[in-house]
Amino acid sequence: MATESQDNTTRRTAAIIGAGLAGTSAALGLLDAGFDVTLYSDKDRAALRDKVPPTGVGVLFGKSREFDAEIIEDLYEVSNTTGISVRLHAGSGDERTDVLTFNPDYGYVAQAVDLRLRADDRLGRFLERGGRFEVGVIDVERADEIAADADLTLVATGKGGLSSLFPVDESRTHYREPQRRLLQVTLTGLGHGPDAFAYRSAEGGNHSLFNLDSENGEIFVGPFLHKDAGATWSFIVFAKPDGAWAPRIDDATDAISARQVIVDIFAEFFPDDAPTIRSLQVIESDPVSWLKGAVTPTVRQAVATTAGGNVLAAIGDTAIAVDPVAGQGAQGTLIQVAELVKAAAAHDGEFTAEWLSAEFEKHWERRGQAAVEVTRLYLGDPDYATHLELSFPAAAVSPPIGSALFGLLSDPNPLLTLKTREDVLGFITAVSGEPAEDVIGRFEPAGRFESIAVSA
Ligand SMILES: Cc1cc2nc3c(=O)[nH]c(=O)nc-3n(C[C@H](O)[C@H](O)[C@H](O)COP(=O)(O)OP(=O)(O)OC[C@H]3O[C@@H](n4cnc5c(N)ncnc54)[C@H](O)[C@@H]3O)c2cc1C
Repeated sequence: MATESQDNTTRRTAAIIGAGLAGTSAALGLLDAGFDVTLYSDKDRAALRDKVPPTGVGVLFGKSREFDAEIIEDLYEVSNTTGISVRLHAGSGDERTDVLTFNPDYGYVAQAVDLRLRADDRLGRFLERGGRFEVGVIDVERADEIAADADLTLVATGKGGLSSLFPVDESRTHYREPQRRLLQVTLTGLGHGPDAFAYRSAEGGNHSLFNLDSENGEIFVGPFLHKDAGATWSFIVFAKPDGAWAPRIDDATDAISARQVIVDIFAEFFPDDAPTIRSLQVIESDPVSWLKGAVTPTVRQAVATTAGGNVLAAIGDTAIAVDPVAGQGAQGTLIQVAELVKAAAAHDGEFTAEWLSAEFEKHWERRGQAAVEVTRLYLGDPDYATHLELSFPAAAVSPPIGSALFGLLSDPNPLLTLKTREDVLGFITAVSGEPAEDVIGRFEPAGRFESIAVSA
């Protein structure tokens, strides 16, 4: 219900449950938009920042940063990257070969900041500006009471938490089980300067690395701003469930063993990178700077009505959870929040289930669906076999195609227009400026990757 402030103007009330990236962003955004906001969290501020791992790496690839700037100013100068060094290997044992490599500039700036730092900076501003923060686990009954009292109630409890209040939308959910096993860890010992991985890219620490292995999965290595240690490198292993890497993830039980799993995978599968990886160390002051698990990509019906007849709307991972291989989760969250805050501020009437559902549909059109589809593309879903078969070789010989492929991480919407083989060929022709057949015809498998130093 609305509250009256000291100057006798009424303020609409908002309640947000969960203080990760989604909850803290929504809390700050709605407060700044004039709402009287209470943020409910199962952990206090210190625990959120220092006692739990970050939910993910949270690279913001370009466009989502424009939406986030509507919520909070850009506070971070470290970990901004402009491109990515990609290498694809195929086969196993003696048959294993280096297939292709490319090193596109994104055409935008990506930023990888510790999500605990992002959330804490938002929470700090929220508290300074008069937001209320209540600590305690919120169960279904309490959520009902909270929603009865607030004009607008958002649930931002991540993939678990209260997400089961929102039924899975079967028509938008493509998988019943995780497509990758995940291992994330942050390591220190290498700056972000021109020397970093210089044998892979003349851009050094301005480019991330993405190693793909057709049998076993993918590994992302990127410059990262750790909340305490500053310039560091984040690693994500995306292990195919039936590949050789997946069982190794079981061996990770702390940051040190997580590092060792990664060192061992590089030694065996990516020996060119192995010496640099081996030189990196865990962050001793942050023993929880690692994570393992898996995500079942799930889209939920984002509006629910409680037993008491009160309306709740899901944001962030509670609404749409994607495998992180295409880096869409945090980005989609920020876009959803920025647009919802604007819409709520502009809306005069009640926040009914109909209104909230219509806003979620707009989010689905604007970003949600494309985020789900670009994730399926990068997971190598059979529906995208043609796209991958054509676009990766084209990217290896045409830098604009490489940029366009990774441009999809910033804005995945163009993918929705590429339905057939002809569409993909037309896209390659349009982006490269030459007939797609000529581009793809130039591609020859690498056989063995050369380092920049050797080829120069
Ligand atoms: C390995 C990995 C890498 C990733 N990399 C990227 C990337 O590069 N780019 C990108 O865009 N996204 C990435 N993501 C996704 C991104 O991390 C998430 O989408 C994002 O952090 C979700 O934020 P959230 O606030 O919705 O959920 P969460 O961060 O899970 O926050 C939920 C909060 O609610 C709290 N909570 C839960 N239950 C309750 C309760 N009952 N009462 C009160 N509080 C509760 C939790 O403790 C937590 O603080 C990655 C994810 C993973 C796993």
